[in-house]
Formats: sequence, structure tokens, C-alpha cells
Amino acid sequence: AKAAGRNNMRFFDPAMQASIVARAALEQALREALESRQFKVFYQPQVDAGGRIHGAEALLRWEHGKHGMVAPASFIPLAEETGLILPIGLYVLESTCQQLVKWSGQPGMEHLTIAVNVSIRQFRQEDFARQVLAVLAETGANPARLKLELTESILALDLQDIKAKMTSLKSRGVRFSLDDFGTGYSSLAYLKQLPLDQLKIDQGFVSDILVDANDEAIAKMIIALAASMGLEVIAEGVETVMQEQKLLHLGCRNYQGYLYGKPLPVDQFEALIRRR
Ligand code: C2E
Ligand code: CA
Ligand code: CA
Ligand code: CA
Repeated sequence: AKAAGRNNMRFFDPAMQASIVARAALEQALREALESRQFKVFYQPQVDAGGRIHGAEALLRWEHGKHGMVAPASFIPLAEETGLILPIGLYVLESTCQQLVKWSGQPGMEHLTIAVNVSIRQFRQEDFARQVLAVLAETGANPARLKLELTESILALDLQDIKAKMTSLKSRGVRFSLDDFGTGYSSLAYLKQLPLDQLKIDQGFVSDILVDANDEAIAKMIIALAASMGLEVIAEGVETVMQEQKLLHLGCRNYQGYLYGKPLPVDQFEALIRRR
């Protein structure tokens, strides 16, 4: 498994995912992975138009003894279904906050803002905001260095409830980004009521931005929308300089993608920052 290299993640056989026995086995394996600390948090750089790394997205990795590095797409859906995403999500948050505390004392690292993915199932919990505040308090992490990534799926929830949770976290300095923007069913009327800080252009629109006029039009629309709502905008999945130049031309000045770095384990992420 190791021979494939550390950036090559593996997927479980999709046919296996359909089988009840295999699903039960995967669920059991996820529980064991939590207990035996097989989950790792990787960090993917986010840069501004000057190329400066100002943040990162925390991305979950499962370092499986036999299967190597397992991609989240192979297990997040089942973790969501079974509710295991709750302890797993808490682990990612704790791990990231602990890392933020370590970085807070390191020159070149203390300015970083780290984005953590929050699944709708986590966000839906009544005490979600309290949980996040508890992790911040226990670790001593600065809330202003934490960004939470939500998806448009949360808009299925009660608007007052969403706003209350977001507002209580925002009052402490936590920021919010809307991930995969444009792929869901956002009602713009709803959207403007949310106390968001950032829209994240889905990589589906970025990958063909140079060749597909529709994707370019959508990216342009999202960038204009963000500007008119006073929100920051970031593009994900940027792989080429040409894509970056196109996005810059359209007014997007924050980027994330393989062009700047893949999701990396802590030591390699720190080394990347030191090299710059
Ligand atoms: P996402 O939140 O949309 O994360 C971005 C995904 O795009 C990541 O995949 C990242 O590795 C990949 N990516 C980044 N730059 C590029 C690029 O230039 N080209 C291409 N082709 N891909 C790029 P990853 O790490 O496999 O994660 C997949 C999804 O799993 C995430 O999509 C997110 O929905 C979910 N996920 C990952 N970590 C967590 C977590 O801690 N909690 C939750 N709830 N979900 C997570
Ligand atoms: Ca994300
Ligand atoms: Ca995304
Ligand atoms: Ca995505």
C-alpha cells in the first residue's frame, strides 16, 4: 500500500459499499479508527493574489493499516449515515484547535486561519455552538483563527435556528464560509440572511473555467454576488496559473488548489510555509 506514495489515496471498492456486510465492517472499522487514532488531519494551503499563504483547509485522512491512506469520499457518507461523523467531526475540530495553539507561538504560522468542514448532521445538533465554544475554551485556541465551512444543505434547516447558532459563534470571532457554492439549492433570499464571511466557488466551476463559458459565467456571477454582499470569495481546485489568472481577472483574490499545495501532514505543511 505504501508503495503507491503518500498522496495517492485509496477508495474502497464501490461494489463493497453496497453490501450490508461490508457496510457493517466499514462501520466497525471506523469505530476502531477513532479509538486507535488512525484519523489524521491534513492541511491544504489557501493563498492570496500575492501568493502569500494566509490559511488552510483541514481535511480528514484515514491512515488504514491495510488499505493505506483512505480518501474521505470512501467513508464520510457512511459516517454521516451512522452518526459517527459526530465524534469524527469533533476530533477534527479538537485536533485543528490544538494545532492552532501550537502555531500561535510560531513565527510565520500565527497569522493562519484554518477552515474546518462541518457536516449538516453536526450543525443540526442543538448544542453545536456550545460544543465548538467548549473546544475553543478547552484548547485555548483563538476563535478568530477558526473558520467553519458549511454547505448549502444547511438551508434545509430552520433559518432562525441557523442564524442563532452562527451568530453566537460569530460574536466570539469564529468565521463562516459557504462551501461548494453553486452546486446546491441556495435561495438567494435565504442566503443574504445568513451571517456569512466567505463564499467558496466549487472546484466543478474552476476546473473548466478556461474552456466552458457557462462555468466562467457562474464563477463571475458568484464573485459579483460575494462582492455585492460584502463577502470574501475563494476558489477551490485551482490547478493551473491560467485558471488563477482568469479568476483574478474576474475579481477573485483567494485560491486553494494543487497549484499551491495538496493537503499535507502538519510537518510538510510547516515546511512549505518556511520555504516561502
Ligand atoms: P471539500 O470540502 O470540497 O474539500 C475539497 C476537496 O478537493 C478535498 O478532497 C481536496 O483534497 C480536493 N482538492 C483540493 N485542491 C484540489 C485540486 O486542485 N484539484 C482536485 N482535483 N482536487 C482538489 P478530499 O480531501 O478528498 O475531501 C473530500 C470531501 O470530503 C471534502 O470536500 C469534504 O466534503 C469531505 N471532508 C473532508 N474532510 C472532512 C471533515 O473533516 N469533515 C467533514 N464533515 N467532511 C470532510
Ligand atoms: Ca470544504
Ligand atoms: Ca468544497
Ligand atoms: Ca466538494
